[in-house]
Amino acid sequence: FDGVIAIDGPSGSGKSSVSRRLATELGAACLDTGAMYRAATLAVLRSAVSLTDTATIIKVVEDTGFEFGTTPEDRYTRIEGENVDDAIRGPEVTAHVSAVSGIPEVRRHLIAAQRAIIADAAHGIVVEGRDIGEVVAPDADLKIYLTADPAERAKRRSGQNGADLAATAADIHRRDTADAKTTRPHDAAPGAVVVDTTHLDLDQVVTALHELLAH
Ligand code: C5P
Repeated sequence: FDGVIAIDGPSGSGKSSVSRRLATELGAACLDTGAMYRAATLAVLRSAVSLTDTATIIKVVEDTGFEFGTTPEDRYTRIEGENVDDAIRGPEVTAHVSAVSGIPEVRRHLIAAQRAIIADAAHGIVVEGRDIGEVVAPDADLKIYLTADPAERAKRRSGQNGADLAATAADIHRRDTADAKTTRPHDAAPGAVVVDTTHLDLDQVVTALHELLAH
């Protein structure tokens, strides 16, 4: 396999686990673009720049050394060589990531980095996010929009990070609404196949994607 698979969808739709498993089975790389926006947000929070100072935020993102590991069994996110995989999934980053990802220059910078990683992938790549099929890789060989009922998404997310269910549901709703200004958390990119994962387990979703790839 040497193609590009775009997997978009909102929080808790199963994007991350599905992408990692599919990439492993295809011998492909996989890229979590949400981790890139989260890492940019962590760099901004650490720099203590005011969140209203857009020009400085852009500069911080452009000047920070990020590394994103794309081997499915060994994905990592680093800032200046430091592993930040736990920190980028903490509540502080989650609370501010929509604001940082909503800045057009931040998106332009990270989208260029995403396209470079895609172009470098020798054995294909599964790219997950919210704007992959529409903006980052509109020529992807397969575009998927994963979705699930909001209650099911909240249940999965709070199961992953141990957070309170009601608080998680509220947070997902807040981010879906905020992200809708810049990406499409609520609907599929043109040409994307919608896969509703509400009543499917991981194996069933991955099997469905293999079938779509074969056609
Ligand atoms: O997927 P995840 O929940 O980790 O994404 C974190 C945030 O990054 C989203 O809420 C959104 O603000 C931003 N994001 C984005 N475009 C993407 C992926 C993520 O704007 N392709």
